[in-house]
Amino acid sequence: MINDILLRDITSDDIELEEKYHQEYLKCKEQGNCPTCANFKTNNIFIEDDELTLYEDNLFRVFLERNARKSGHVIIIVKDHYEDISEMPISLAEPFHRITNITISALKEVLGALKVYLVTMCDGGPNHLHFQLIPRYEGEPHGSKVFVTPRRRIKKDMEVISSLKEYIRKATSN
Ligand SMILES: [Zn+2]
Repeated sequence: MINDILLRDITSDDIELEEKYHQEYLKCKEQGNCPTCANFKTNNIFIEDDELTLYEDNLFRVFLERNARKSGHVIIIVKDHYEDISEMPISLAEPFHRITNITISALKEVLGALKVYLVTMCDGGPNHLHFQLIPRYEGEPHGSKVFVTPRRRIKKDMEVISSLKEYIRKATSN
C-alpha cells in the first residue's frame, strides 16, 4: 500500500506558481548568486511556507519538500554557504548527524517509514549544500529507485505535520 498521507497530485495552479518563482531563481543564478543564500534574505526564490518548516536553528533549516518524491520527503539545508559536502566543516558533522537522526526517527514514528534514505548532490553551480531524506515504506521496493520516484505535491495535513514538528521539538530539547 502506498503511503500518500502527505502527497497529492500536481495541479496547473502549482505549475504556474512554481514557474513564477523559477524565473527569480534563474535571474539569481544568471547574476552568479546563490539562490538559497538570496532566498534567506528575500524569500521570493523558493516557495517556503513556514508551516512546512519542521525545525530551524542557527545552523540548519529542516522542512518538507513541496515537490515530494515520497510522503515525508525532507530537505535539510545547512545555513552557511558551502557548494557541496566536500566544503562542509568537520565541526558541523556532529550537529548534522544529530538533527538527521532525530528527523529520521520522526519520519519512522509519525509516518511509519521503514527506512529513510539520505542523499546529497548539489551539482551544477552555484549551489548550496543541502541533504534530502527520502522515506521508504513497507511494501515498496528497496534500492536506488526511491531517489527517482516521480514527484508529487505535498498535501498539507496539518495534524500530521504538527506531530512531526512536535516529535522533533521534544527530541531536540532533550
Ligand atoms: Zn548559498
